[in-house]
Amino acid sequence: MSKAIVIRQGLVIDGTRAEPFRADVAIENGKIIDIGNDISTGNAETVDAKGKFIAPGFIDIKTHSDWTLPLMPQGESKIRQGVTTEVIGHCGYSCAPALPGKVEDLAEYLSPSAPWLSFKETGFADYLNFYPALSVNTIHLVGHNTLRLMTMGMEDRPPTSAELRHMILLLQEALAAGALGMSTGLFTAPGSFSETEELVALGRVLEAEGGRYFTHLRNEGNSVFDAIQETMEFSEQVGVHVQIVHMKLSGLDNWGGASKAMDLFSQARAMGTAIDCDIYPYTAASNPLRNLMPSWLQEGGIEGTLAKLSNVDTRARLRREIDQDGLNNFGRIPSWDAVRISISPNLPHFAGRTIASLAEERNIDQFEMALNFIVEDHGQTRVLVESISENDVRDFVKDPNVMIGSDGNSVAPVGTTGQGRPHPRFYGTFAKVLGHYCRDLGLLSFQDAIYKMTGASAKALGLKDRGVLKKGFKADITIFDPDKIAEKATYEDPHQFATGVEAVFVNGVKTLHGDQHTGALSGQTLRRQSDFL
Ligand SMILES: [Zn+2]
Repeated sequence: MSKAIVIRQGLVIDGTRAEPFRADVAIENGKIIDIGNDISTGNAETVDAKGKFIAPGFIDIKTHSDWTLPLMPQGESKIRQGVTTEVIGHCGYSCAPALPGKVEDLAEYLSPSAPWLSFKETGFADYLNFYPALSVNTIHLVGHNTLRLMTMGMEDRPPTSAELRHMILLLQEALAAGALGMSTGLFTAPGSFSETEELVALGRVLEAEGGRYFTHLRNEGNSVFDAIQETMEFSEQVGVHVQIVHMKLSGLDNWGGASKAMDLFSQARAMGTAIDCDIYPYTAASNPLRNLMPSWLQEGGIEGTLAKLSNVDTRARLRREIDQDGLNNFGRIPSWDAVRISISPNLPHFAGRTIASLAEERNIDQFEMALNFIVEDHGQTRVLVESISENDVRDFVKDPNVMIGSDGNSVAPVGTTGQGRPHPRFYGTFAKVLGHYCRDLGLLSFQDAIYKMTGASAKALGLKDRGVLKKGFKADITIFDPDKIAEKATYEDPHQFATGVEAVFVNGVKTLHGDQHTGALSGQTLRRQSDFL
């Protein structure tokens, strides 16, 4: 039994898009036990929220914090934005299963993304059972790229029927262990080697077990609408909820397409298709540098990539394809000034530099510089790519049905995760929507913005008792000052916490108060069987 806490005199934004209302919120034993006026406090501890908003803890529906939370369980950059739940294992990348003899392959495969994480042999059930205690709740997805890597390596071909059965078995094990669903990352190898038929076969397992499907589209650049079409076709054949993650129109030729995409989704929803999307509120994307190239470059893994890059004719072919089609997944960029080194495990002093500036320094061609960097950093470089239009970002931010997800990791300015120059979205996503777009630009109301981070996400995920402030629901609560909430992280200096979040409760336990993280690790591993409808 934990002591009751009464949060007094705040303006409650309950996560349903309802108008804010003044009330007290009482919590005890991890749950909300009352919401109302002048709740008697008795022996309870009180928290003064006068002039502040009391909201459900934010749900970060799209993150890669499985690459950092084991290294930094306090989830600092997220807790300080008011995030209490993170969905991890996205874009086809999950850290489990890691099958006997294949651990090194998975470590190498994820090295541009999780260079500091250690991998060990594990099935999905043990992965969840031994997940470290964290400050945030986690919802786990199993990644299709990981399933394919474990089953058939980096081979560019359809699976044999035995291989497909193996992937189905691994997916069933993950779902039985508590994974909410499967993620795909069809833009990059080996997911890009799969055809819709393979995805539908795996989708049928999700349908049978009550799992959900999360997809990084096959293309977010010049073929983005074809990729949306592929997802719609998947939806027609498989009756599961589909989440298109970090929706964007990448590349100069595709700017202005946000409203067309949102129209397509509303039409599909009107026809009964369960399809949603989320966005991060920035114009730069982040990805491994090697993923900017056509995915055939990665066939055979890193050794295959390096061998191909040592061949002049292959380099010429890459240049031709990119001149014609734009970067893989990113479309046409104005120049290599738009591509900035974020994390380079082997050449850390280059973090923050653009490919164009390195090319100038070495007096070589910019495209050759990009290829050389892949070789020099052994394919492990992560980059930021300025490839999205601000007008599209604003169109997505304004739509109450488009959820907010950071696509970022939980990190902190000091320690292992404080290295390199990560995307500022790791620290600023939620604060930027509330401070910049909501308060400063007035693009949407606070209750609509909060809905996009809480109630809408809880609905898309099927969460049973989170995402809304309601009696009997779990006490995941964020208190913030609407005048002070702001993101501080920039591309140049990203390791800066957001400001304006004054208190955060995770499962009823005070995790942030004032400027202090309390060190509480009260997050829970949420499982499909127990925490979802
Ligand atoms: Zn992705």
